[in-house]
Amino acid sequence: MHQSTRITGLTGGGSDGWDVFLKARRMIADGIAVTELTIGEHDIRTAAPILQKMHAAAMSGHTGYAAVPGTDTLRDTVAARVQARTGVPTTRNNVVITPGGQAALFAAHMAACDPGDTALYIDPYYATYPGTLRGVGAIPQAIKTHAAEAFQPRAEELRAHSRNASSLLINTPNNPTGVVYSDATLSMIAETCQSDDLWLISDEVYDTQVWEGRHLSPRALPGMAERTLVVGSMSKSHAMTGSRCGWIVGPEAVIANLITLATHTTYGVPGYIQDASDFALKQGAAFEAEIAAPFQRRRALAKQVIARQNTVGLVPAQGAMYLMLDIRATGMTGEAFAYDLLETHHIAVMPGESFGTSAAGHIRVAMTIEDRAFEQALSKLCTHAEKRAA
Ligand code: PMP
Repeated sequence: MHQSTRITGLTGGGSDGWDVFLKARRMIADGIAVTELTIGEHDIRTAAPILQKMHAAAMSGHTGYAAVPGTDTLRDTVAARVQARTGVPTTRNNVVITPGGQAALFAAHMAACDPGDTALYIDPYYATYPGTLRGVGAIPQAIKTHAAEAFQPRAEELRAHSRNASSLLINTPNNPTGVVYSDATLSMIAETCQSDDLWLISDEVYDTQVWEGRHLSPRALPGMAERTLVVGSMSKSHAMTGSRCGWIVGPEAVIANLITLATHTTYGVPGYIQDASDFALKQGAAFEAEIAAPFQRRRALAKQVIARQNTVGLVPAQGAMYLMLDIRATGMTGEAFAYDLLETHHIAVMPGESFGTSAAGHIRVAMTIEDRAFEQALSKLCTHAEKRAA
């Protein structure tokens, strides 16, 4: 049977750079102890009080169809949180609850792009982005960035493509680079979106993980609230990756249509998950800081390890749960280095090439294992790089 080209062409074909990850998983299945620094998931599980709330909500009967836009309570809580952080007036009518940030990214592009429209995204990028854009029938167009500029997009490279595009997708704090966009970068992006009439889709799922500088939501910049769709999620901020709860914040008219989209696709998010998410958000910033703390600690450890040698460079690690390491001094590609490290030391990292072309010669390290083991793995990685460079 014929399958739609929309679905068969989702990944764009060719190697997606995830072979090293799959090889590591095969080694683990074969009983080999592999230190995995690959996937962006906490080494802790969802906190017990959140699960107790989830259980209580389910037991009290919140197991039927939940309100498709999200419960009023959760939408109000998300709106209040966004307003408190950004100063932008936000009500529940600016919020739709989605099954995670991933579904929010898809829905936001459904709202922003017609089939055949050009949808911009910044390279290096979170691996699913181009497929999500193709999924709505848009034509993905990557905007290259440069390691020497900490992968912050350049005005001229953005403007070379923005005139004919419908949307621009950005992510700060950034996966895979760990970079936080500067106020100047965000102003440039906002000006470009306004001059070339683009939707800005702002993926802010790492907004509670900022170690240096500040997270500025571009929706708060002048003239941006009416053209920005902010993607948020419980996954990273509250260690609730498996609960699949996220949202889009945007103009009321778009949210109304996104609710119609939800009616025809997901039919909402389970009520007990929404109640648990509401409870989790109401634990406030101190709880979010607790969830983020291990990554902040490991980043500090990593800076010490990296300062002891000259072969491996660290892209400014300002936020999120990742480090982007420059291994070009070894003369190897990120992919070759990642394979070599996996085979020699059973340490799995992601090649920069898995995230586009801009991070070639780099590797991404997820700070998602216990501190001592993390520090030891990183030391081994640096020593290995020094040997290869010699
Ligand atoms: N955006 C980015 C940048 C991510 O790294 C992820 C998860 N790895 C997501 C969105 C989606 O997360 P979720 O669907 O769990 O909210």
